[in-house]
Amino acid sequence: MDIAVIGSNMVDLIAYIDSMPKMGETIEAPDFKMGCGGKGANQAIAAAKLGASVMMITKVGDDIFADNTIRNFQHYGVNTDYVMKVSGVSSGVAPIFVDKSSQNRILIIKGANAHLKPSDIDNAEERLKKCKLFILQLEIPLETVYYAIDFANKHQIPVILNPAPASRELDIDYACKCDFFMPNETELEILTGLPVETMPQIQVAANTLLAKGLKNLIVTLGNKGSVWLRGNKITYIEPYKVNAVDTSGAGDAFIGCFAHYYIITGNVIESMKTASLFAAYSVTGQGTQSSYPNKDEFEQFRQ
Ligand code: ADP
Repeated sequence: MDIAVIGSNMVDLIAYIDSMPKMGETIEAPDFKMGCGGKGANQAIAAAKLGASVMMITKVGDDIFADNTIRNFQHYGVNTDYVMKVSGVSSGVAPIFVDKSSQNRILIIKGANAHLKPSDIDNAEERLKKCKLFILQLEIPLETVYYAIDFANKHQIPVILNPAPASRELDIDYACKCDFFMPNETELEILTGLPVETMPQIQVAANTLLAKGLKNLIVTLGNKGSVWLRGNKITYIEPYKVNAVDTSGAGDAFIGCFAHYYIITGNVIESMKTASLFAAYSVTGQGTQSSYPNKDEFEQFRQ
């Protein structure tokens, strides 16, 4: 396997409603959709759709969502040998209400994701130590994230850490042990407590993290593109202009695609440009994983 994603999976349960129910009120939702998500799963599937060989280290519950999640990984060619079932626990689920004006209310139930332990990394040691890159996020216990980073360092495997959802509890010393630290602008704001509305502000906020010893900081900026900062160098990557329909999962698309091309080329700027194009494609369609192009669709879009 080239890429190991050690992270979360979630099942999105999306109810489309006319307006939010009041406390104690029962209303009818005209439409409902179920979809596979979770930051780890999205990033794994983004890379796999492009042809990367990806293994997923994650946990599901012992409910009806578990087999569906495993089948979904397999459908996209993600290796599931280490997608483990936990008995007596629910799978990670996200009930979401979306009203007519596209406002949403989201609940995250981590379920089995909260049970991913350092010992699960050890159990997969033989496979993991042959990987070329790890991708981590923060929807699993921090102690497992730290353990995976130490494991990767010991075996000289590069790590991308996506600090999402942003947690001020994150020990920045661990971020410094990663090759790439990849927040979006909101996460950068939460992590630093500094404003990130303008490019100079982003640079100031980024510099506070770089000063702590981060190697490479890549900040995704939504429809404003992305930026790579290291030492006192800064490289800005323009966004691709597209007609955005649904931007959910764009950051995950960017990271999965970046990982795949970075392994192949070792070129950060080219990989960021390709990831920007891939993420731009993803915002032109509804949903997260379903909006990511496969290799052929992406090649056509590139031309
Ligand atoms: P997240 O999903 O974590 O909030 P971003 O919104 O920063 O991530 O998006 C990740 C990347 O996706 C951006 O850096 C950009 O390249 C691309 N992207 C996001 N929104 C748009 C958009 N409206 N048009 C074009 N590209 C976009």
